[in-house]
Amino acid sequence: MPGPTLLCAPVPSESHEERKRRALRIVRRLARAYPDAACALHYETPFQLLAATILSAQCTDAMVNRVTPELFRRWGTPEKLAAAEPSELEAVVRPTGFYRQKAKSLRSASHDIVTRFGGEVPRTLDELVTLRGVARKTANVVLGNCFDVPGLTVDTHMTRVNQRLRLTRETAPVRIERDLMELVPRREWTLFSHRVIAHGRELCDARRPQCDACALRDECPFPGSPAARARRPRRA
Ligand code: SF4
Repeated sequence: MPGPTLLCAPVPSESHEERKRRALRIVRRLARAYPDAACALHYETPFQLLAATILSAQCTDAMVNRVTPELFRRWGTPEKLAAAEPSELEAVVRPTGFYRQKAKSLRSASHDIVTRFGGEVPRTLDELVTLRGVARKTANVVLGNCFDVPGLTVDTHMTRVNQRLRLTRETAPVRIERDLMELVPRREWTLFSHRVIAHGRELCDARRPQCDACALRDECPFPGSPAARARRPRRA
């Protein structure tokens, strides 16, 4: 059976300023609803978070967290991972899917960190995205969680929830990120991402959003939300 429509139904016109004010209210409500939201991946160093985030592509954080203890026990630094035997590394990361590509990315990114960045994970987005397997999402995860550089992490939950909230109409992550940069205060970017992702996992499910229990229900134009239902014209 098809799930609910992904993109939002039309709502009364909203100016950019009104949307910005609504976004701020959403930011505040999410902060109250998810005060402890944080990165779900387990790590101890920026390098470990980078590796875990590379593995998280098309894979659940829970599965990554099952794999990384052994990965980090054997190859916990860029020097060690760059020198890992490919077949051994593939066997360890296999449960995360796309394991050949991911093993290649881990070795290549580690090699570059050693040879081009003195063994330290770089601290800028421009440098991070030059590493194999690292796109803006991964770079922003590392910057936001390890280096206090605010970053928006546009994954499947950030995409769906922000589309439903009509904070974006875009589908490409880089455009969604750009829309949110306009609406959400920069200092909130990292925590906003964690909170939206938590909300997407707990309530704003892809198929069965629990709108009646949602802290954002009267700010949300999604057709199933109480606010949207209240706006619907009644039949005589
Ligand atoms: S009301 Fe809440 S759960 Fe429902 S679509 Fe909107 S954000 Fe998602």
